[in-house]
Amino acid sequence: MTGKELMELALKARERAYVPYSNYKVGAAVLGSDGKVFTGCNIENAAYSPTNCAERTAIFKAVSEGTTKFSSLAVVADSATPVTPCGVCRQVMAEFFDPHTTVYLGNLQGEMVETSLEKLLPGAFTSKDLNQEGRH
Ligand SMILES: [Zn+2]
Repeated sequence: MTGKELMELALKARERAYVPYSNYKVGAAVLGSDGKVFTGCNIENAAYSPTNCAERTAIFKAVSEGTTKFSSLAVVADSATPVTPCGVCRQVMAEFFDPHTTVYLGNLQGEMVETSLEKLLPGAFTSKDLNQEGRH
């Protein structure tokens, strides 16, 4: 699946965004290493804090369905420049993505930037940092 095809699915998912407060619709699609695609949209809440981003919705759907390894992710919003994931989503990506996993950033003008998790979150805190071996 090409980045453009994944972006098309993210665009469709964006239409299902539940955003009564910000009216800022975001869509995402994540491609599993098993070839399965999961899509997500942002889902807001009157209490604000429980709001979930499109990227995390897509990743959590995948993980809950048994897909935990990924090839790429696309995210899209109505932004002047291709939208970029928030810090929380970058951290969730770091939990499941290889550092070289491709991330496509898009907007409604059709602009698309290809980047990677490593570029989005250098020095990520991961499970490796929890290894206490050799420490006292
Ligand atoms: Zn986010």
